[in-house]
Amino acid sequence: MDLWELVYIRNSIRLIMSLNQKLGRCGVYCGQCRAFTADVLDIATKFKKWVIQDYSWLKEADSTFDYDNFLEGLEWFTKSTCPGCRNATEGWCDVKKCEKIQQNEVDNCLVCEEFESCPLTDYQRKRYSYLFEHIKFIKKEGFERFLEEEERKAREGVRIQEIRDY
Ligand code: SF4
Ligand code: SF4
Repeated sequence: MDLWELVYIRNSIRLIMSLNQKLGRCGVYCGQCRAFTADVLDIATKFKKWVIQDYSWLKEADSTFDYDNFLEGLEWFTKSTCPGCRNATEGWCDVKKCEKIQQNEVDNCLVCEEFESCPLTDYQRKRYSYLFEHIKFIKKEGFERFLEEEERKAREGVRIQEIRDY
């Protein structure tokens, strides 16, 4: 193996590791979530700026809504972001309480043989039924290809808010 092959392998491993950081423990790809990508934050920040620049006259106008309250709401959305499953503390999430996950016996539920009957993933099986397709894909194409594919979809604009079941 020559030096370039080694460099290629090292970079590939780094890329896969960084993509894996965007994969939630339950198998939902955080890189496809509007809170993680900061889509909402970006739009709210821009919108708030335009509202102040172009519509501040509404403050004094006889309007059907409270201008200041509306700005406060927009301000809330400008902070609406999430660091992703692996960096967030989600007390409500059963998966994050799973011993296998906490002990790092498995990296995520998609590679755990218990997923389909695990009581801790009831919520995910109902809300993100597309995870079953992910498992099939991983079995056929491998875990690395799966991560690359999810990242490709994220770049193309796929968002979990549009593909989940409710
Ligand atoms: S916090 Fe829970 S539901 Fe959310 S991505 Fe992580 S494991 Fe999945
Ligand atoms: S036991 Fe359940 S929660 Fe834990 S990794 Fe397996 S499928 Fe996920």
